[in-house]
Amino acid sequence: MHAEIVTTGTELLLGEIVDTNAAYIARQLRNIGLNLFYKTTVGDNEERMTAVLRQALQRSDVIIVSGGLGPTVDDVTREAVAAATGRKLVLDEALLASIERHYARWGRAMSENNRRQAYKPEGALGIENPVGTAPIFALEHEGKLIVVLPGVPREMKYLLDNVVLPYLKEKLHLTDVIITRNLRTCAIGESNVDQLIGDLERESNPTVGLAAHPGQTAVRLTAKARSEAEALRLLDEMEARVRERLGDVIYGVDNDTLEGVVVRLLREKGLTLALVETNTRGRLAHDITSTPDGLAVVKGTLIASSDDALQRSFDLPAEAVADPSPYSPLKAAAVAAAARKTYDADIGLAVLGTYGAEEGPYGRVAGNTCIGLAAPDGVWTRDYAMGGQDETAQIWVAVRALDTLRRYLLGLRLSPDVPTVRQH
Ligand code: ATP
Ligand code: MG
Repeated sequence: MHAEIVTTGTELLLGEIVDTNAAYIARQLRNIGLNLFYKTTVGDNEERMTAVLRQALQRSDVIIVSGGLGPTVDDVTREAVAAATGRKLVLDEALLASIERHYARWGRAMSENNRRQAYKPEGALGIENPVGTAPIFALEHEGKLIVVLPGVPREMKYLLDNVVLPYLKEKLHLTDVIITRNLRTCAIGESNVDQLIGDLERESNPTVGLAAHPGQTAVRLTAKARSEAEALRLLDEMEARVRERLGDVIYGVDNDTLEGVVVRLLREKGLTLALVETNTRGRLAHDITSTPDGLAVVKGTLIASSDDALQRSFDLPAEAVADPSPYSPLKAAAVAAAARKTYDADIGLAVLGTYGAEEGPYGRVAGNTCIGLAAPDGVWTRDYAMGGQDETAQIWVAVRALDTLRRYLLGLRLSPDVPTVRQH
């Protein structure tokens, strides 16, 4: 049993509006356990739409159509469904009465072409639309089911959620429970994750998929089962297998954020933080202080725009002042230690990089970054060939810095994939 979505509208086809209906319908179908194999978009053209529906009837069991139910000549969905199934359009008196009631309630005159909306292919089940004028319909044809929804997203969602999904669940005996779980990884690229769990991505229940964001990759597990307990058991098993491969690059699950996890660890351990950044426009401070308890763990932050600013803000040792590099390990260690002391925090974290822009390969702005972490039990630094004013690079750098802190707080190896880790 599988479904297909057909969205109609020339403006969708031309990219003038984004097809949010198809995405919404797809998610909802997944939630009731109905597999989706195809999505098609077709313009407001009766002939082409009829052809699309004929093809859909050949390859899918359930066809959900959105759009083209309005009263105007470019609304051709009714005609196309009738043509594709070889049926006549017939007037549904009950639907006509419901449209008339709508207009009477709004005190507006009903035009002749609004009557068109009360027509449906012969044999279809007409369904009133309490949130708009266009009624919808469902049609069973040679063992297949076509459901037609309005194009206006608000109406489409209401009717899908309140009428169509319950109808499909009952009609198709969809009793399965589908549950999704996201395992969140950081500071490891999508291709590296893929290399480690590629074989699991070919399994079918739970399915395993990747969603990449700068600096982070989510591993999405989706299980389908007869009961919630069974789905959770399948998820637990797959989660254990993924964890065995990925280990400590997984920082959290579902709604966890990296900064939220770091702040929680700091709170649990009763530790405070001092932050210094030169090449991330304060992204690290912003991320941390955006979490609910963030301000409570941060004793002070500084965005420095030059070595001069660093020297005026902190009492740095002579060798760090003399160091000409804006991002050396020596300087990162010295600044982290000085920030820790100046702000009277337990941990100092310094993210030092190239000031301003540096041209990199392919014309992209490149840069380098050195992260320093000073804690009561030592000072660590990590180097990255990444930084500069490119926003994606800044997100990566902030993720690396947060991950450095997370690893320190959990007592983990400081880095699985970075060559230079020095302890001073
Ligand atoms: P109407 O009675 O308004 O004509 P309709 O059922 O005929 O409703 P359409 O004419 O196809 O629907 O679409 C009406 C409006 O709804 C479009 O102009 C567009 O703004 C929005 N819309 C239609 N389809 C989609 C879609 N797939 N995704 C997002 N918005 C859509
Ligand atoms: Mg329309």
